[in-house]
Amino acid sequence: MKAIQMVDLKSQYEKIKEEVGKRIQGVLDTSAYINGPEVKRFQTELEEYLQVKHVIPCANGTDALQVAMMALGLKPGDEVITTTFTFVATAEVIALLGLVPVLVDCDENSFLIDTEAVKNAITSKTKAIIPVHLFGQCANMEDIMSLAEKNDLFVIEDGAQSIGASFNFKDGHSKQSGTIGHFGCTSFFPSKNLGCYGDGGALFTNDDTLAEKARVVVNHGMKVRYYHDEVGVNSRLDSIQAAVLSIKLTHLNEYNDARIAAANHYDEEFKDLEEVITPTRVQNSSHVFHQYTLRIIGVDRDALQAHMMGNDVPAMIYYPVPLHMQKAYQDDRYQDGDFPIAEQLAKEVMSLPIHSELDKEQLQKITDTLRAFVLNNRS
Ligand SMILES: *Cc1c(COP(=O)(O)O)cnc(C)c1O
Repeated sequence: MKAIQMVDLKSQYEKIKEEVGKRIQGVLDTSAYINGPEVKRFQTELEEYLQVKHVIPCANGTDALQVAMMALGLKPGDEVITTTFTFVATAEVIALLGLVPVLVDCDENSFLIDTEAVKNAITSKTKAIIPVHLFGQCANMEDIMSLAEKNDLFVIEDGAQSIGASFNFKDGHSKQSGTIGHFGCTSFFPSKNLGCYGDGGALFTNDDTLAEKARVVVNHGMKVRYYHDEVGVNSRLDSIQAAVLSIKLTHLNEYNDARIAAANHYDEEFKDLEEVITPTRVQNSSHVFHQYTLRIIGVDRDALQAHMMGNDVPAMIYYPVPLHMQKAYQDDRYQDGDFPIAEQLAKEVMSLPIHSELDKEQLQKITDTLRAFVLNNRS
């Protein structure tokens, strides 16, 4: 059996190796490394895939979030509401820009931002909401967009983990994750559902003016060459990464389907274990399983993780510390105990390997290893 990994990038690469080699060679042959035709091509292909008017490629997902906030003209002191249960990048860029991160708790079943808590956190200083489509399914965009409309707020979707997921509105129409808010942001970090072979990211928007602003921000605040109307950043997707992404985009649905199949297998194997709560799939979104995250209740989660690792089955804790308890984000406004759901989840969650290359034998070993521990350690 092949070694089990959280993400098996090598096996995935082996299947597209020839095509990738050719396209990268093509970039080398033309030497159009920056803003070359591969970047434009991928941009157009992704716009088509997402059914969104504008894709603005950039250097990584963290930059995408930062550029979105800059393009929206958010100013120091403005409050931005997001979830405490997420990867740090979301709050990091809020803080970096001198904006005020306002954290809220999440839902214990879906791990997604609690929209009722968002509503309660809105003040006269609130300018934006950043819902995070954590682990691969969309936050409740229907509620979030209506809160934003009522209170005149911007919405930036953090879709770093959800590319390919779609959100279903009550009236029956659906939209791709990241194409609903004023901006959607994603990451092409290698382990993401659509990952390149280095760093990459993008913003999405249906608003022509905002798209133009973001394009200026990513390019040193420059509209006309060497004339800088505002302070920008340097954030580009390079041509080699764009070539890789263009190929991988044609496989994205198939990769996501393989993740869903693995998730279905896990669900089935754990359904009789009351100590193991399988991830809830919300009704209004599809789930592309960037992570398959269990809640472990009544057996020692850390001992279970050690048992998995000891048997060559990787298992990770996403995320062990909610943002309000992170040293860098200590703030007089927050204390331990303020966000009980996120704090509880940090003690309960454990993510299993999930990617496009898991075979039956590997899946069986993962579930057998977990089951053995639970059955031997139940109280
Ligand atoms: C990965 C990730 C990011 C940041 O993406 P990078 O490309 O690594 O900068 C932001 N938000 C979430 C939720 C992520 O998972």
